[in-house]
Amino acid sequence: MSLSTPKFNAEFQCIKEGCGRKYPLNEIIYTCKDDGELLEVSHDIEELSKLSGKQWREKFDSRLGSIHKPNNSGVWSKKEWVLPNIADENIVSSGEGNSHLYDTGRLAKELGLSGLFVKQCGISHTGSFKDLGMTVLVSQVNQMRAEGQDIQAVACASTGDTSAALASYAAKAGIPSIIFLPANKVSAAQLIQPVSNGALVLALETDFDGCMNIVKQVTQRKNIYLANSMNSLRIEGQKTISIEIVQQLAWQVPDWVVIPGGNLGNVSALGKGFEMMKDLGLIDKLPRICLAQAANASPLYASFKSGYKEFSPITAKKTLASAIQIGDPVSVKKAVKILQKFQGVVEIATEEELSDAAHRADRYGLYNCPHTGVALAATFKLIESGNIQKNDKVVVISTAHGLKFTEFKVQYHKGEIPNTDSRLINRIVECEANIEKVMKVLESRI
Ligand SMILES: *Cc1c(COP(=O)(O)O)cnc(C)c1O
Ligand SMILES: [Zn+2]
Repeated sequence: MSLSTPKFNAEFQCIKEGCGRKYPLNEIIYTCKDDGELLEVSHDIEELSKLSGKQWREKFDSRLGSIHKPNNSGVWSKKEWVLPNIADENIVSSGEGNSHLYDTGRLAKELGLSGLFVKQCGISHTGSFKDLGMTVLVSQVNQMRAEGQDIQAVACASTGDTSAALASYAAKAGIPSIIFLPANKVSAAQLIQPVSNGALVLALETDFDGCMNIVKQVTQRKNIYLANSMNSLRIEGQKTISIEIVQQLAWQVPDWVVIPGGNLGNVSALGKGFEMMKDLGLIDKLPRICLAQAANASPLYASFKSGYKEFSPITAKKTLASAIQIGDPVSVKKAVKILQKFQGVVEIATEEELSDAAHRADRYGLYNCPHTGVALAATFKLIESGNIQKNDKVVVISTAHGLKFTEFKVQYHKGEIPNTDSRLINRIVECEANIEKVMKVLESRI
């Protein structure tokens, strides 16, 4: 029996039905030349199917816990599915992925679920899931520069986390980076991250959608490479979230995955990961997906309610979930396709609902950012409405580290979030350093 080594390949492909035009991954291109539609990275599924689903599962399992590059990264341990043709020496990795799947235990029981897990994507090098996509994009740029292409810098518009990830990975590779942020709309922690990593940081008097508009034009005028998720390289890294989830559940597929969304790249990535696993026989069913939006920035919710018949961009209102304050999502078409295929729903959370949900789950040991709060609130609402059923197994995607959002947590526990009751407020007790006074407090509380 002769076994030839599979030669995996991937290229960009237009997502428009009936077009499907292809471009090599080392071309500087973000949308199709024929119709302006988004591209996706398409893999040679025939070649990948030369390994059975069981063989892939075993291969991925065998790489868990590796101390060697590139398998010591959750993304690059799936390299054949991500960027098969990148040279290992061009990979720019900070040990992203392999994030914990947090079992909420008592909370799941109280809710009557057979499991409620929080995928801790924010416990990562720069504190958000954006690291997963950025390692792929910056590695590809690194390879293109090594091949002699003239790329002077990488640039992105950001609500805070994309810029932190880009600045860090670019700094690691020695590539200049340029960041466009909406002035006064990101947290202090998020703002200072790219500054520390030496990026050129521009604060623009606009919102995220305005920054996106600028960066698109900048990257057309100069040899500056666009690092937003309309560049589908990002999606390839982010889709490993799905693979990690089922791997951590011993290759069992959850009933539901709930994910917060703004520009809608991540929900598209989540779906793509599950699709590939199903196509390649690693799993035999798909979960249902809930895309959760802040009520103040919920253009997809409106579209969902109309059966996706139409989609109208909006001007997003201010929300505590600042990373998803987006009214004109770039990846809306990809996201709708995924939601339709996964019997998906869109749910919204008000400022009060997202705050209470984040802090409710904190009481079970988590430390949730407001975006995770949006997804948790959506989960609670879907349980109440009967969409999520008793005994379902649910995974909530946590997108950022709570430590990036100290203002949010402090405000909540001081009862200072406008128009909310801070139902789960936990006030700090100020007390004299006197044992009798201290005992009095303890007697009233314990
Ligand atoms: C980017 C981001 C999101 C939204 O992801 P999209 O791909 O834009 O939908 C959610 N939460 C956090 C913390 C983020 O940084
Ligand atoms: Zn096309």
